Amino acid sequence: MSYIGRFAPSPTGPLHLGSLYAALASFLHAKAQQGKWLLRIDDLDTFRNVAGATQSIIDSLQVYGLYWDAPIFYQNQHLTSYHTVIKQFLEQNLAYPCSCSRKSLAKQPIYPGYCLKKQIDADAAHSLRIKTSDIKICFEDEIQGQHQHSLSAQHGDFIVKRKDNIIAYQLAVVVDDFRQNISHVVRGFDLLDSTPKQLFLQKILGYPSPAYCHIPVLIDQQGIKLSKQTFAQAISLDNPEQTLYLLLTLLKQNPPANLKTTSVENMIQWGIKNWHPSPLKKLRAINQGIY
Ligand code: GLU
Repeated sequence: MSYIGRFAPSPTGPLHLGSLYAALASFLHAKAQQGKWLLRIDDLDTFRNVAGATQSIIDSLQVYGLYWDAPIFYQNQHLTSYHTVIKQFLEQNLAYPCSCSRKSLAKQPIYPGYCLKKQIDADAAHSLRIKTSDIKICFEDEIQGQHQHSLSAQHGDFIVKRKDNIIAYQLAVVVDDFRQNISHVVRGFDLLDSTPKQLFLQKILGYPSPAYCHIPVLIDQQGIKLSKQTFAQAISLDNPEQTLYLLLTLLKQNPPANLKTTSVENMIQWGIKNWHPSPLKKLRAINQGIY
């Protein structure tokens, strides 16, 4: 099987150290196996998209020597493919409309199925939920090991199309990973909990499942994940060599000291040649300030 990996940022802001960390890991993982690496812009959530963010992400990846092997894939240009799948779900009675408000579900971490048997007015705003079954989803994550989830008990009927008509992340990612023939998904540990839902959707759609590899997330001194929500600083483009060296260190690649004074291209080549993800095994988070 040929290796095709991807990095799929949401253009909700510039890349920060944590997102570049995930991008670098997925790039090195792909290139170390002579794979292709694709860039997908997860821009379906138009309410969260930030003007200029896509260009800023592209510029940062280029400055850091990460190159993609096919034209950039923009989710917004593929809306019909998601709607075709939604239509299929409805025709096959695999999904149902739900009019519950977020507020009414605030105390329910797992959707209790209120709308499963209700008649919903088709003209009123509603989301669509996929019917989950009481099956066990098992997968072997390359870094995090064996995982087993009971789908309906741990996840419940989850949303595939939101009330505001936006295709939910879980569905879009499955359709796109299939469409782009993604064989390996390398991303942050924070997305591990989404994996059983994605495996379930792949199963009912008859899609093959990629291999998964959830690398630790970077956290700050307070133990909080670096993210746009917590206002993690945009990555600096001024001294990429220094940041790249730090990222290789945070990826536990043990870069030699003399790599510090070399170019971005050399560092990336060294990273590909020496890539070994095993020191990250079972790690869920790494403190960015430890080096
Ligand atoms: N777009 C998602 C994010 O920025 C990542 C999607 C994925 O890797 O599955 O968090």
